[in-house]
Order: sequence, then structure tokens, then C-alpha cells
Amino acid sequence: MRKNDMLEQWDRENFFHPSTHLADFARGDMPARVISGGKGSHITDRDGNRLLDGFAGLYCVNVGYGRTEIAEAIAAQAHELAYYHAYVGHGTEVSITLAKMILDRAPANMSKVYFGLGGSDANETNAKLLWYYNNILGRPEKKKIISRWRGYHGSGLITGSMTGLQAFHQKFDLPLPQVLHTVAPYYYRRDDLDMSEADFVAHCATELEALIEREGPDTIAGFIGEPVLGTGGIVPPPTGYWEAIQKVLKKNDILLIADEVVTGFGRLGSMFGSDHYGMEPDIITIAKGLTSAYAPLSGSIISEKMWKVLEQGTDENGPIGHGWTYSAHPIGAAAGVANLKLIDELNLIANNADTGPYLRQRLAEELGNHTHVGDIRGEGMLAAVELVQDRDSRTFFDAGDGIGGKVAAAMLKRGVIARAMPQGDILGLAPPFCLTRDEADQIATTMRDALIEVLG
Ligand code: PLP
Repeated sequence: MRKNDMLEQWDRENFFHPSTHLADFARGDMPARVISGGKGSHITDRDGNRLLDGFAGLYCVNVGYGRTEIAEAIAAQAHELAYYHAYVGHGTEVSITLAKMILDRAPANMSKVYFGLGGSDANETNAKLLWYYNNILGRPEKKKIISRWRGYHGSGLITGSMTGLQAFHQKFDLPLPQVLHTVAPYYYRRDDLDMSEADFVAHCATELEALIEREGPDTIAGFIGEPVLGTGGIVPPPTGYWEAIQKVLKKNDILLIADEVVTGFGRLGSMFGSDHYGMEPDIITIAKGLTSAYAPLSGSIISEKMWKVLEQGTDENGPIGHGWTYSAHPIGAAAGVANLKLIDELNLIANNADTGPYLRQRLAEELGNHTHVGDIRGEGMLAAVELVQDRDSRTFFDAGDGIGGKVAAAMLKRGVIARAMPQGDILGLAPPFCLTRDEADQIATTMRDALIEVLG
């Protein structure tokens, strides 16, 4: 398995890892992990350890590891034509085919796909399109974007601003002033414990309305949200949330971006989260599950209503001044076509609707009575276990204690990967769509054992 004894030293001396404690890593105070292979729901590291990946990489290897159908599609495309650009009306057979396959699966009233490389650049595109749209409509003041605290939309300039997590703002001079945040739809963490779920939804809508009123509706272009909060804690919305929010947006002529980077292409047990929750977005962001991360590719699916204005814009101003060299890259597109076919052929979305709830049931059975388990939640093939100091008063652990990270490390030692989510002591699970019931059992019992090791 090991090929190069210098690898760890090279890693620490040369590699700037994202979202990493840089000093600890360079000093050798945290482990270096080198992953060398994967099959189904498992990965293997270079020391030969086999790990059950309960987070599918970064909730992206949706069809599981080692799918030869996708590898072969990528290889065939690389042999035939590794690259040609998509500017000025150019395309390739696979990129055009993939656009058609996406629109065939997308909610009603969606019209076109703009391709990017990752979720962050797709949301950068979306912000620019909101501004362009309002300029074409003669509303140059209508530009601000509302996001939610705990939302995650990327880590670029405008997308890092939309992201509502402290670690992505601090010391980076973010958020930029064009981005505003409103309350997270996080019923478990409501301030007033006596508030009913319905009252909490009304509170979210009222807070949004008050923000719009304060800023002036004529200054707000769009609202961006994940159907289910992801990196902010894997939090499904309270019942009726999207209906209440969309009412406020419609009233104030504010466009909705559904960020489906995590939820798109089946994770919730439905093709799109927008359909799952009755959202009617003007733009849908897609990435991760589009190719199951076999190659980088993202997209912005644009509604017919927006598209008409974009067309008007180019009639008035000439070609749209927005493009990436690698937009619609044929290798990414080949991965996307093969991936979407595989999801259908293996009926993986139905597995999410079945094995996902089974996983949460098993978590509840194994962990539900533990005094430090505050909440077990999720939707489709997404689950989270939130740890608290005290269940009844809902007091949280000190962030400095890093309890979530310790439990995740104790799970890893036992061969299962869960993700300690970045804000709060929350263990996130987003396994590949091919997860079996036996593997779900293993995740639940391993988390139980790890929890007992760390918290007694
Ligand atoms: N949007 C959502 C909902 C995400 O979860 C992510 C990444 O986790 C992004 C956007 C950013 O995607 P990327 O990391 O590919 O830039």
C-alpha cells in the first residue's frame, strides 16, 4: 500500500490544506490522513485501514466509491476529446446531453443550465445573475442578498459572505455589505423553549419581513437557502417554513435561490429538495451529487422567468460577460451523464427514502436515551446527532471542549467516519446512497460506543 516513505513529510512541508489548523498540521500536532482507495461505502487509507464513510467524502460521493461505469465514461471522454470550451455557442455532445438530463429532472419552470466547477463558483454566478437581472429591469438599487445564519453557500467573497458561519467570516473581512443574514430555521435551538413549531415558523417569517422592511424591499434582490441546512448542522426546516418564507419573498418581489448542492439529485429521497418542500426557486444551485464528485462540475439552473430577462439583456447589451474556461468541461459532463444514469439504474433515490429513515431509527434506538443526546434529526439520507450538556435545560457544551470532534475521533478509531459539524457539537451523517441496513447498524452502534467512551 505504502509507496513513498517521504509522503507525510512532503505533505506537511508543501500542502496548504483547506479548512485545516495550518500550524498544527505543519508542526505534526494533528494526523495526516492519506486516502488511497474506495469501494461502495468504504474508503481505504494508505496504512490499509478500511473505513465506513458515513459522510460520503463531503456529502458528495453519492453513488459510492469505485464505480467503474463513471471511471470508464471519464476515460472514454478523455480519449475522444478532453476539452473544448463552451463560449460563443460551443458545446460538446456530453455537455449538451447533460444539460438536457438535468432539465428533465429539475422542477417545473426551469429553463437552462449554466455550468461551473464547484458550489462556490455556482453561487458566485447566481449573485451576479441577480444583479444583472435587476439592472436589465431598470432596478439598480435592488441588489442585496439575504441568507440565513448557519447557511452554507461556499467560501468565496460573496459566497463566503452568504455563508452564515463564524469561521468563514472571521479575519477575512466578511460578510460583504451586500449580504444580510436572517434567523436560521433551527427549531431545536430556538431562544424561547415554550414556542411551538408553528409559532417559530411565524417568527422566522416575521423576522425576515422586518429585515426587508428595515432595508427597504427595493434594495433586496434575492434570498438564498438550502432546503435543509447542511454544514450549519443538518437541520430540516420546521413544517410550513418554506411556504411562509416564500409568501414574504413573493410579496416583496425577491428572487429565491435554492442551494441544492447537497440536496440535489436525490439525497432527501426526492430528486430535488425544492420538490420535496414545495419550493419554487428562480435559480437552483447544483454541484456535489451532479457527478458524485468523480469530476468537478456544478451548475446554476435558471428559471424561465429569469431566462427571459437574461435574453433581453443580451439583446440590449451584447453577449453576457460571464464565463469560466472550464465551464461545461467535457470530463465533468461525462462523469455527470454516467452518474445520473447510475442513480436511476440502481434506484438509489428509493434507497435513500428507505435506508435513511432506518439509519435515524437505529440512531434513536442506540443513542436516544443517552443523557447527552439532545436531538436526532434528518431527512432522506441525512442525519445529525446533537450533543448537549443538559437535555432538559438544553444547555450546550463549551465550544472549547470540542466534544463533537472527540466523539468523531473515537468513531474513526472504530472504523466509521462521521463529521463533527463546524458550529456546535453536532455529528453529521450523509452516507453514500448505496448504504445498506447492516452498514446503518454499524454506524449507530459505533456512535453509541464512541459516545460512551467520551462522555460516559
Ligand atoms: N452550497 C452548499 C449547500 C454546500 O454544502 C457547499 C459545500 O459544502 C457549497 C455550496 C460550496 O461548494 P464547493 O465546496 O464545491 O465550492
